[in-house]
Amino acid sequence: MRQPMVAGNWKMNATRWEAENLVRAIKEAEPDPSAVEILVCPPFTAIDAVARVLKGSPIRYGAQNLFWEKNGAYTGEISGEMLRDLGCRYVILGHSERRQIFGESDQDVARKYAAAKRSGLIPVLCVGETEEQRSQGITEQVVSAQLQAILQQTDAATFHGTVIAYEPVWAIGTGLTATPDQAQEVHAFLRAELHAFDSGVGASTRILYGGSVKAENAAEIFSRPDIDGGLIGGASLKAEEFLRICAAA
Ligand code: 13P
Repeated sequence: MRQPMVAGNWKMNATRWEAENLVRAIKEAEPDPSAVEILVCPPFTAIDAVARVLKGSPIRYGAQNLFWEKNGAYTGEISGEMLRDLGCRYVILGHSERRQIFGESDQDVARKYAAAKRSGLIPVLCVGETEEQRSQGITEQVVSAQLQAILQQTDAATFHGTVIAYEPVWAIGTGLTATPDQAQEVHAFLRAELHAFDSGVGASTRILYGGSVKAENAAEIFSRPDIDGGLIGGASLKAEEFLRICAAA
């Protein structure tokens, strides 16, 4: 069966000192690693500090982005190989903030996906529709195109282990959560797409929900059959609330 996962996307928040304090508080609560896999994704500048605190802990850490080349004249960019050097296990790819603010296309995300795999990182691939796309009734087409951009360039053995995060753009940072039924509907659709790609991938791939998950609504969202945990933004910056969300998974 699929092990639940709760991942914290810290976005552009936390100095090294703040990051150490936050992750130490999470670690010291000793959440049961057999019940939920916990992942924190600090900004690049705090990854090493977090890695030191998490040494020997079952809590995983990862990054929020990468660039697809290994090294070279790419001012300001960070490669998957550099993230592996820091001990990162996961990398978030295709977050809607990257797509919307930084203009990442499905093709860019696909190149980043291939680079993550090449360097030994596990991608947390984000998909999700905007409010306008939902009101136009094209949610399934949008998330399908985002997922297929990856599936078309890979095979089942390579894809295996990838985590999907469904994050409706209109629910991110807005306090507006998809209802558990709305989220489940899209998760079931994504799982059917994965199943059509490969039945083993369909059964084993974890699909996380993200968008205004809080301690108060987490348990109900996570109770749905195709929702395997959450990708948490704002509420992952408070240790106590993040731990409550982890306990709900
Ligand atoms: P919020 O939990 O702050 O809505 O952010 C969700 C998100 O974008 C996680 O990647």
